[in-house]
Amino acid sequence: MRIGIDLGGTKTEGVVLDPDNAEIVRRRYPTPINGGYPAILNTIVSLVDELQEHAGTPCRVGIGTPGALSQKTGRIKNSNTTCLINEPLQADLSALLKREIRMENDANCFALSEAIDGAGQGQGIVFGMILGTGVGGGIVVNQQLLTGLQNITGEWGHNPLYPDGPRCYCGRRGCIETFLSGPALAADYARRGGDSNTTAQTITALAEDNDPVAQEALAVFLNCFGQALATIINILDPHVVVIGGGLSHIDALYSRGREAAAQYVFNDEFSTPIVSNMNGDSAGVRGAAQLWPA
Ligand SMILES: [Zn+2]
Repeated sequence: MRIGIDLGGTKTEGVVLDPDNAEIVRRRYPTPINGGYPAILNTIVSLVDELQEHAGTPCRVGIGTPGALSQKTGRIKNSNTTCLINEPLQADLSALLKREIRMENDANCFALSEAIDGAGQGQGIVFGMILGTGVGGGIVVNQQLLTGLQNITGEWGHNPLYPDGPRCYCGRRGCIETFLSGPALAADYARRGGDSNTTAQTITALAEDNDPVAQEALAVFLNCFGQALATIINILDPHVVVIGGGLSHIDALYSRGREAAAQYVFNDEFSTPIVSNMNGDSAGVRGAAQLWPA
């Protein structure tokens, strides 16, 4: 039995998977952001204890986190849950839970889950991308997560798309995330004169209803998607691209977004399947458990 924990900015979810990847039990609690790092540690430890009690046997534990572990220091970096930054999360949890812990970036857990028993099942090279509040990604080759020298594999969200573009929280300008995240689409719609409180989902619906401002913002969004995706395809040539996150429900990504990518891919044809995820919101927590072999 394996326990997966998905530590998110608002919720912390846990699951027990059996050797056939079937879910035995699942629990979800709010992430105690206001209590800071010690409260987050406590929540994870009591969640693991609770899940293990249901499993009735000692379990291996995998954790998906925002950000990544620094290879140099063993501490969390690049996390938008800022109270985790510079904390030795893996070492602390390993000591508290008295076992070896596997830990990966949440987008990597998503990609792994979709490659093992989701929309990328049976495919050689899977690029899993998250389009949501942020933009992330992970690469799985033959069911094995690719983790590179610096634990940043797949982090395409902070590649520059337009160097003069909007400011990004990472300190640079014009990162892919400043064009392809939900807040980015909403901000672009507002810049063009739309209501600044409109969500990405509503903008998409308005575009379908022939709202010209929404159509303009969506067209730019889809072109940026095509450009950004083409760089991934030219370098990695994945057998499938699986999209997750809140924006994965935008149907136009799979039609017009795909056509946009075709213009920028260096090839005489464009056959890469671009598909929506199968494991939905469960992909992150399942992938965390699947950091351990069944
Ligand atoms: Zn950035």
